[in-house]
Amino acid sequence: MTAPPLPGLDADTLDRLRRGLPVTWTNPAREPAGRPSPDDAFEAALHDEARAATQRLARQRPLLRTVFPELAATGGVIESPLLAVPDLQAALGLPARVGRLLVKADHLLPVAGSVKARGGLHEVLDVAERLALAHGLPVDDGALASPAARALFAGHTVAVGSTGNLGLAIGIAAAALGFRAVVHMSAEAKAWKKDRLRRRGVTVVEHAGDYAQAVAAGRAQAAADPRSHFVDDEASRSLFAGYAAAAAPLAAQLAAAGVTVDATHPLFVHLPCGVGGAPGGIASGLAREFGPHVHVFFAEPVQSPCVLLALAARPGDPLPSVYDLGLTNRTEADGLAVPRASPLAVAAVRPTLAGAYTVDDDALFRHVVQAQDSASLALEPSATAGLSGPHALLRSDAGRRWLDARSLAAHLPRATHLAWTTGGALVPPEEHARFLARGRALPPA
Ligand SMILES: *Cc1c(COP(=O)(O)O)cnc(C)c1O
Repeated sequence: MTAPPLPGLDADTLDRLRRGLPVTWTNPAREPAGRPSPDDAFEAALHDEARAATQRLARQRPLLRTVFPELAATGGVIESPLLAVPDLQAALGLPARVGRLLVKADHLLPVAGSVKARGGLHEVLDVAERLALAHGLPVDDGALASPAARALFAGHTVAVGSTGNLGLAIGIAAAALGFRAVVHMSAEAKAWKKDRLRRRGVTVVEHAGDYAQAVAAGRAQAAADPRSHFVDDEASRSLFAGYAAAAAPLAAQLAAAGVTVDATHPLFVHLPCGVGGAPGGIASGLAREFGPHVHVFFAEPVQSPCVLLALAARPGDPLPSVYDLGLTNRTEADGLAVPRASPLAVAAVRPTLAGAYTVDDDALFRHVVQAQDSASLALEPSATAGLSGPHALLRSDAGRRWLDARSLAAHLPRATHLAWTTGGALVPPEEHARFLARGRALPPA
């Protein structure tokens, strides 16, 4: 197969990408307004779906606090804290004159311990509501936990293909509501994730190939069964809408913390990116909240920069794969090991994304150590990729040119850099200890 052309990349960046070296890339297609036109039909539909997701998550709080005892304390709300991390900022070598580092701690999201909790729970709730309504059952006030609803769900399957965390979120949520749950996992998926799901009664199907092959196999099996719903990580609008629901609560948390976001107080958000759905949903929600004042960057492994490549391709061309560039898609960041991007995510973020950068595995393991030692954050390697964001922006030629072209450099002392930590709470302590040992064994950066 011949690779599609990549007009959005200069020769030097393309060469570094091919050699698996870290790059910083800025998006030439970003609209100056920083938000997609509300007249655009695609954006209008995504916006409606995001609003509906926010309402659905609110409507199902009584159900959520019934089926997940850990949500009793929050009344069924699935949220993570926004954390001040001055010592982590110092450990990363970021002086106050370049702004302030905050962490959006989705690694602490209840139920699934990762960013997948919002999108995954939302899609399972969406499926459950539709099924109940189609069978004349009520959906409000916790009614989806009724014996009649559970009996209905027991005759239906929710399936997903996943490198790990999406499988955990969907498997846990579907099983908790009483569905049959099937998770198709790729070779990279960690043994403890498979064990945890099996203990909850979830069927785990293992595939020898990569993530894309696990998804394809799962999709084909589910398509053959009318009582099966496949959560499609590469195309699901429901999943995407659930992720976008993160934006409004974050805006409220920033306001409560006294963080201003405007033309002279830029907000830089650094999001670990796999197929693009989770960071894409969050980025589109943030663009609606903050328009030109938020600058979202995606962080991808040096061997798996699938969204960066997709954004550098011509709109309408087939999406490139990281294998087209001779890359391996091999990384310890199993949540980000994706060879080809979600077309939905790419189309959604093309008009607003600031850029993307790549990180090598050593950087991720060093961040695991820094996050633990300076802020007591227990992260998995994938979840740390955003901690490279401020340096990717401030210390690269591409980043500095981009800041200068937007006259942002002068505002850095009042800027906020928000690193989204996307997973870790469910990682077993002995596994986390191995991550730390590997990071501590590395020579200083
Ligand atoms: C899935 C995942 C991501 C990225 O989400 P995508 O939708 O695949 O882009 C980031 N971090 C962690 C820990 C994840 O599990």
